[in-house]
Amino acid sequence: MSYFYDLSKVEEEIANCMRCGNCQASCPYYRETLSESNVARGRIRLAKAILEGSLPYSPALAERMECMTCYACNAICPCGVKVDKILLAARAALVRQGGAPALKKVMALALKNQRMLDLFVRAAATTKPLFLKKHPLGGHKLRFYAGLNGRRVLPDIAGKNFRDRIQEHITVPGARKTAALFTGCLGNYVYPQTSAAAVDILSKSGFNVVIPRAQHCCGAPLSLNGVVDAAEALARSHADLFFSLAADIIVTICGTCGESFKKKYPELLSGSPSYSHKAKIIAARTCDIAQVACEYTLNGRSRLKELNMDVTYHEPCHLGRGMGVSKEPVQIIQSIPGVNFRPLKEPARCCGNAGSFNITHYGLSLRILKHKLADIESTGAGAVITGCSACRMQLADGMAQEGKKPVIMHTAELLAMSLKA
Ligand code: SF4
Ligand code: SF4
Repeated sequence: MSYFYDLSKVEEEIANCMRCGNCQASCPYYRETLSESNVARGRIRLAKAILEGSLPYSPALAERMECMTCYACNAICPCGVKVDKILLAARAALVRQGGAPALKKVMALALKNQRMLDLFVRAAATTKPLFLKKHPLGGHKLRFYAGLNGRRVLPDIAGKNFRDRIQEHITVPGARKTAALFTGCLGNYVYPQTSAAAVDILSKSGFNVVIPRAQHCCGAPLSLNGVVDAAEALARSHADLFFSLAADIIVTICGTCGESFKKKYPELLSGSPSYSHKAKIIAARTCDIAQVACEYTLNGRSRLKELNMDVTYHEPCHLGRGMGVSKEPVQIIQSIPGVNFRPLKEPARCCGNAGSFNITHYGLSLRILKHKLADIESTGAGAVITGCSACRMQLADGMAQEGKKPVIMHTAELLAMSLKA
């Protein structure tokens, strides 16, 4: 049984923390708040108290265990403590004790039911003029308060979902392998151009492409927040779906989705031998589009054409530290003729989005973002490339609020532009 279901599974990780405090230097949450209970060391002490039963559930305690799960503490820890596992196990234990807060219950309900989510997004796309007004720098503002901060600049909702506008199976002449594409929610409803770019790259790299209609949310917003039963249901559904496809590779376009497939599903499904087997096979086949592009597109016969751009790259936490995909996006950028790469000082510093964290801690999320925006500004780049749609939303929101027109695209979109140019 995994740590998601039993906090005692991380007892050894908790004991490995020697309380040196090194994690303070890298934690974006601590760097803003300077509060010990907001850094890995402090949260590990809280997890220990929960495990020992000396600290019972309270909403305040559950809130203390929330953070961006950015892995910066894992990366800097000299003892190799897997802080993320402790945090996830403690959040799940607290939900078992006190139940999930209302927002997370609604999230679980919406994300588990794909048909309901589809209907909701379709209705929102049709009626958006009623509740959204255009922002002069792109994106939209809410016309009235709807549970979200009124300052927020939101991205557009696609008029038609990506998966509804593309055929499920794309056969490419001469292709010997098949790639199954997982678009994720944002790649389906908000940034269909990223999914389209991924299809383009895969088909030009010699893959038949299947984009299964029955896919839905990867479950990360739930597993990261301790709502384990709903996350497990999604993991099971995807294990069945992607196992049955028997594709050579499963391609994700977002580090958080990819990490769910690679790392969370094997943990969530470890209690069932048959699902555990499927989850391990799926994990082994999953890769990010940047990895596929480096292995097949850059080494293949497709010629990259010149683009005239100055760009920088923001590394998403779950793609870089989570999936270990760090050098590939930079390699892609540097391979495109005419693209001038202007690196950030801290490319892997968290942008502060972290999914629902950005909803529940919006002010703090923007404070964390400010450092990233200043770093971007100092490069003088005209466009930001990234590999995560949630980071993209966050960067676009922050830039628009600072009066700058956001030019942000996914690495796959940049590469697809060069393939097409
Ligand atoms: S988590 Fe690691 S870096 Fe942080 S206090 Fe513990 S041992 Fe030190
Ligand atoms: S995961 Fe990130 S935000 Fe959370 S404690 Fe570690 S460094 Fe801080």
